[in-house]
Amino acid sequence: MDTDSQDRGPAAPRALATEAVHAGRDDLAGRGLHAPPIDLSTTYPSYDSAAEAARIDAFAATGVLPDGPPVYARLDNPTTGRFETALARLEGADSAVAFASGMAALTAVLLARAAEGLRHVVAVRPLYGCSDHLLDAGLLGTEVAWVDPAGVADAIRPDTGLVIVETPANPTLAEVDIRALAHACGTVPLLVDNTFATPVLQRPLTQGARIVLHSATKYLGGHGDVMGGVVACDEEFARRLRQVRFATGAVLHPLAGYLLLRGLATLPVRIRAASASAAELVRRLAADPRVARVHHPSVGGAMISFEVYGDPHRVIAGVRLITPAVSLGSVDTLIQHPASISHRIVAETDRRSAGVGDRLLRMSVGLEDVEDLWLDLDRALSAPPAPGTAPTHARARESSAAGR
Ligand code: PLP
Repeated sequence: MDTDSQDRGPAAPRALATEAVHAGRDDLAGRGLHAPPIDLSTTYPSYDSAAEAARIDAFAATGVLPDGPPVYARLDNPTTGRFETALARLEGADSAVAFASGMAALTAVLLARAAEGLRHVVAVRPLYGCSDHLLDAGLLGTEVAWVDPAGVADAIRPDTGLVIVETPANPTLAEVDIRALAHACGTVPLLVDNTFATPVLQRPLTQGARIVLHSATKYLGGHGDVMGGVVACDEEFARRLRQVRFATGAVLHPLAGYLLLRGLATLPVRIRAASASAAELVRRLAADPRVARVHHPSVGGAMISFEVYGDPHRVIAGVRLITPAVSLGSVDTLIQHPASISHRIVAETDRRSAGVGDRLLRMSVGLEDVEDLWLDLDRALSAPPAPGTAPTHARARESSAAGR
């Protein structure tokens, strides 16, 4: 029975929380299924080589595989396709293209633009350390101009293929006005890395951005057990990305596609619950004399960064419930020292001028009870200094919780 063709009438517009649960799964009930099937095939049989050749030619020319079974797992996978459909719906995009990691997704975007002769990139710091490194080292033959948001329009050249920003940014949680920045970009596409806000808090495409990128490893997966990346954009650019992905190979494994689709279903409730705890921790940290500054984005969310008067390494060494680890967006709370870990690869002067100081800690608040989190953090903030180091006394608090 071809249940795909069952027409159940036009779908009514659905709220984000409903899309999170149902997008990418609309055909399941008609197929007699509840959970999405996982297709692990690397290849698919075809007894008609001429027809297969025509389909491959069509994909190579257009980035779209004509209707019919997939050909090979590097072109297309139905399980990953469900995640792509769902994420596109959540971001309000025509299309989404999934990759093996967030860095693979950024690589594909840069290669797609460079293939059109547009090798110049304008970018706003801070970015995640490895994104900064990929651009700054010119590993893909691109050239970067680092500017602040006000300098974007002047930095654009005829060969500029992309403007890149993270908002809220990793790790300072600095925010930019997406609408104003998109305006400054003119015809050059603005890419917003939306990993920290997720479509639950912010949908950059509705504010003029043309490309949204996620490290799906973080909130979209949500459980710290799957690595992936995804780009949401118009269908024309998605076709270019699928061609690049086919040629370069950084596809998302279908098991990861399955886990990411499952993660999306709980994304809104996870973000809301963790954000409420984060807001409470921000209030307490901002009032704490051991803490110099607290950063929390105006869009909200579960990421906090804060600067301590004392030794930040003592806090990292002192936590017991909170996990001292890089990455973010998991059900459990994670804390790390960006200057040592997530942004280690960025040159010290660039790191510092982007606001990533040596006393900054970044915390991804999870789903634990907020009182347990505070107990752990409070104890870690009071951890005694390592033998031989002079204690640093708290001075007056410089600023309260305010997103920059
Ligand atoms: N973008 C942001 C904002 C990130 O924080 C990260 C990783 O931490 C990435 C991109 C890269 O993603 P991945 O680690 O999935 O390659």
